[in-house]
Amino acid sequence: MSDSSLVFALENGSLSALSKIPKSDLHSHAGRGGHISYIEKYANVKITPNEVPFESLYEMNQWLKENVKCHLPGGAEGYLKQIEASFAQAAADNVTVLALSFCVDEIQLLGGMEAFKNTIDGLREKYAPNTKLYPDLALGYFPEEVNALDEILERKFFSGVDIMNYMGTYTMDELKRICRKLKENELILKAHIGEFGEADDVWRYAEELGLDQIQHGVLAAKSDKVMRYLADNRIQLNVCPTSNVMLKVSADYETHPIHTLFANGVKVTINTDDLLIFNSTLSEEYLKLYKAGMKAADLEVIRQTGLHYA
Ligand SMILES: [Zn+2]
Repeated sequence: MSDSSLVFALENGSLSALSKIPKSDLHSHAGRGGHISYIEKYANVKITPNEVPFESLYEMNQWLKENVKCHLPGGAEGYLKQIEASFAQAAADNVTVLALSFCVDEIQLLGGMEAFKNTIDGLREKYAPNTKLYPDLALGYFPEEVNALDEILERKFFSGVDIMNYMGTYTMDELKRICRKLKENELILKAHIGEFGEADDVWRYAEELGLDQIQHGVLAAKSDKVMRYLADNRIQLNVCPTSNVMLKVSADYETHPIHTLFANGVKVTINTDDLLIFNSTLSEEYLKLYKAGMKAADLEVIRQTGLHYA
């Protein structure tokens, strides 16, 4: 697809043209990447999307439970329906490069690494045959997860790791030790930093842990020094605009930090985070940023950055 096709689709405000253009989603939590309409159709129910920003992550998770998960079976069956929805969405929006993150307890839910790998590969093949999957292992939920690390890495299923919820689970020294091991296994190192907290956190964690990419990282826009560090070291931020608006990290799309980050030479990509909750597809994210003042040619640069993930 040529450069001009994205520009054309944006200038015409055409979501259907946008949905046909190959895109990447590099920040998507596996069970939450589907579209509400997919769950509605499956469960034969009507789900009203949340339209006002959430006050907290707790409130966001409660919304998912009370509006989506309540329509799905429990245990592995419901979980697999959510994964199926994520792949179906990737196919519907032509997401050809997809990094979904999975937690250790999701691997355990499906009966261990061998069964997990086969099941996820099978679902991708069936629902998103044209999508290349780059699975991330999400770490930071419970300290015992590190005991499962050797067995998980041995299968060579994961291409990256996403450290989240690290505060309270690990000290910086523990994180460094874990990251060294992951680096030895040649995994792309990512972490959720700079969504909440301080701009300096982005620089500090990237430097100390040797991160390749950062999930969110938008607070970096508050500091010229941190932006220069990210630009000089080619550290990519996988940004999720609607997630930031819905969690009050950014007031709106016009003032979203992605404008400043891009203008300062920081490598950024556009992603969905939790589509099932935030109800904004990748195509919609591109269009929202275009309407908020980003140039179509700049959005094309961002799209290309994402497609060159691997
Ligand atoms: Zn996230």
